[in-house]
Amino acid sequence: MLELDEIQRIFQAQRSHRRVMRHTTAAERVERLERLRAEILTRQDEIGRAIHEDLGRPADNRDEIQTVMGNLDKVRDELADWMAPLPVEKSPATPAAERIFVKYEPRGVVLLFGTWDFPIGMFFSPLIQAVAAGNVVLAKTSSMAPATGEVIEQIVRAVFDEREVAVFNDNDVTTPDGVRSTNDVLLDLPIDHIFLTGSPRVGKIIVEKAAQHMASFTLELGGKSPAIVDRTIDLDLVAEAFLGGKIYNHGQTCLSVDYVWVPADLRDAFVETYVAAVKRAYYDETGEFQWQRDGRFVDKRNYERVKGYLDEAIARGATVAFGGKTDADNLVIEPTVLLDVPRDTRIIQEEIFGPILPVLTYTDEEEIFAHSDTLGKPLGFSVYSRDDAFIERMLDNTTSGGVTINGHAVHWAEENLPFGGVNSSGYGRYHGVWGFRELSNARSVFHVAVD
Ligand code: NAD
Repeated sequence: MLELDEIQRIFQAQRSHRRVMRHTTAAERVERLERLRAEILTRQDEIGRAIHEDLGRPADNRDEIQTVMGNLDKVRDELADWMAPLPVEKSPATPAAERIFVKYEPRGVVLLFGTWDFPIGMFFSPLIQAVAAGNVVLAKTSSMAPATGEVIEQIVRAVFDEREVAVFNDNDVTTPDGVRSTNDVLLDLPIDHIFLTGSPRVGKIIVEKAAQHMASFTLELGGKSPAIVDRTIDLDLVAEAFLGGKIYNHGQTCLSVDYVWVPADLRDAFVETYVAAVKRAYYDETGEFQWQRDGRFVDKRNYERVKGYLDEAIARGATVAFGGKTDADNLVIEPTVLLDVPRDTRIIQEEIFGPILPVLTYTDEEEIFAHSDTLGKPLGFSVYSRDDAFIERMLDNTTSGGVTINGHAVHWAEENLPFGGVNSSGYGRYHGVWGFRELSNARSVFHVAVD
């Protein structure tokens, strides 16, 4: 078990080291990140096995590693430009200026919490941006992906001096007052910035804890991200996108399609098309769901939680149009389509984070708008339509952190777009230059001209 003294020693060492990291050049930061790239690539098989152990995804799946490689490429190619002072035009009201610019300086010590659904990607993506911005980082891996947490710890130790990046896997710390959770101990330190990927519930805790030391924070949270289907779109296209959107990682993705709105008269055609796509992708000839192709629930608690939502919905009169089988031994629920679900059930009220799709119908777009932020403001939003006027009305009458039109979560993959949530789904933006800026202090400099 960790000792409080050990955490405090590392924190003090990191604080003293902030100035060193602040003065590193783009080339020096990239050099560290290239060592990180090499270490991750060396351990690809180990990472695959660990994710398999934690989430049941195939051990040869390299999706998360590819994401991280993309992040590293972007930083390698663009960091020098991001770090350069940003020139600003003078306005008429201010005195003559020698120069005006924004200088990006590191925030200092960044406390990073990873999550378990994409334990490699959601840990290393923010870490890379924190290092690129010249910060030092204290990090805690998610206790729910322990095998991956161990590999992460080894990678970080192999690449970074602990004054630059230190990672903790132990969930508990011995203190003179008894055993405390590592999360709580870390959050009591006078950190400069906190970066959380996790639930709105923990997001609230972070905001309160940050207030103790006036730390700044970035919250990458979740919520109920809807998909809206218009009658002008080919339903096959929607169904294919929903495979990644609803079933990949057993529905445990922050941008998962939580529920879908379809025109009432197209409901049955939509269900038929979606079910056919699901069967093609995930079922064998005997009609068995091949969950091994994409993973299972992370743990019993999450399996029980989603099963509870399903049971309640059925007990309250929802119709199972497809699926519905549960498998407690393997922590799996079959891809399921629910119709006529009462709006006050938990499956409609809470983020599902599982492969169940409630289908809501509309005859009037106002029904979508009226519902739009009643369940919190979502992280993602997708619209499927060929009608530009429909798309504009959807954009103008709803809100979310980001939007993909005619695809699933592509706005997340595009690193030139800022990624993040709004209110209940998050605070702050990252990816590409946006992440560099999020993890920097944008210092305004006005140099008055003197004769
Ligand atoms: P969670 O909020 O329970 O845990 C996330 C992290 O917070 C863990 O690493 C945990 O150790 C840490 N943490 C810090 N202080 C804590 C405290 N006091 N108590 C408990 N944990 C504390 O998240 P979860 O439910 O495991 O993850 C799922 C959520 O994450 C979903 O809501 C999902 O949408 C969201 N998510 C968001 C993104 C994104 O990029 N926006 C990505 C993945 C997941």
